[in-house]
Amino acid sequence: MLENSCLFLLNPNFKLKTINQEVFFKDSATSLFIKREDLLHPFISGNKYRKLKYNIKRAKETDARLLLTFGGAFSNHIASVAYAGREHGFNTVGVVRGDELSLKQSLNPTLKFACDCGMELKFISRKDYRRKGDKHYIEILKAEYGEFFLIPEGGTNSMAVKGCEEILESIDLHFDYICCAVGTGGTISGLINASRPHQKILGFPALKGDFLREDIRKFAKRDNWELITDYHFGGYAKIKPELITFINRFKTDYHIPLDPIYTGKMMYGILDLIDHGFFPEHAKILAIHTGGLQGIEGMNIKLEKKGWSLIE
Ligand SMILES: *Cc1c(COP(=O)(O)O)cnc(C)c1O
Repeated sequence: MLENSCLFLLNPNFKLKTINQEVFFKDSATSLFIKREDLLHPFISGNKYRKLKYNIKRAKETDARLLLTFGGAFSNHIASVAYAGREHGFNTVGVVRGDELSLKQSLNPTLKFACDCGMELKFISRKDYRRKGDKHYIEILKAEYGEFFLIPEGGTNSMAVKGCEEILESIDLHFDYICCAVGTGGTISGLINASRPHQKILGFPALKGDFLREDIRKFAKRDNWELITDYHFGGYAKIKPELITFINRFKTDYHIPLDPIYTGKMMYGILDLIDHGFFPEHAKILAIHTGGLQGIEGMNIKLEKKGWSLIE
């Protein structure tokens, strides 16, 4: 396991023509780096590793036997909890949004992986799923499964934020901008807390909705951040052909895979913003690759059904 993830410089003069049609970087020295958190662990990808670290530690301290959490059918978090649970000797239950998914033969690769790690899946209706934060609903689950250590949807709680603070190292303090994809807001909160006031943290939500700002304010200790809401491509797990083309081209050009739900949208957004002159000249930008590559296989099954081109 890599404790320090790697940085890769995207040399703009080298590849730019293939990303943007015009050579934008020529006069300015904007530089873009990627922090490869996706290389942290083969199965507990990127930020999910960071988010689980202190949750698992706490679960051990409380002598919990069972971890229970919530997620959607493609959730990187569900897959990560399943694997981490097995690795650390916990039983795991994943409460999954959507009771239409419960037919075993239709398990997608994410849920199949979770199942293979020994996770018990409980499929609930979208209506019930909205009660995931409700104390009474948690009591119902406790009556069913016995005591458990609860990890919220997406893994976001104060322990997760603490883990995500460790993404930034002292060498990252010279960056002007730090960019990350946003789901539930835990990762960006950790980045904000670990940043310096002169840095700006840009979050690229992978879903529509305004509730995120409130959620981030609960954990973030500074206000040097902004959400860029123009690159969700229609919402969570929604995708468009131009995004697939972009992801495939990015991989060909830089040999870095991006996932379609989070990091592909973020990177598309960053390059588009650079193209439109959003960043000042000489800006040094750090993009966090939060992982999520396990979701590609499941997405490709969806794309194949639509007759679209696949993610390579
Ligand atoms: C879960 C996830 C995110 C979002 O993280 P939050 O802390 O929920 O905002 C971003 N990128 C990837 C790859 C993820 O799996």
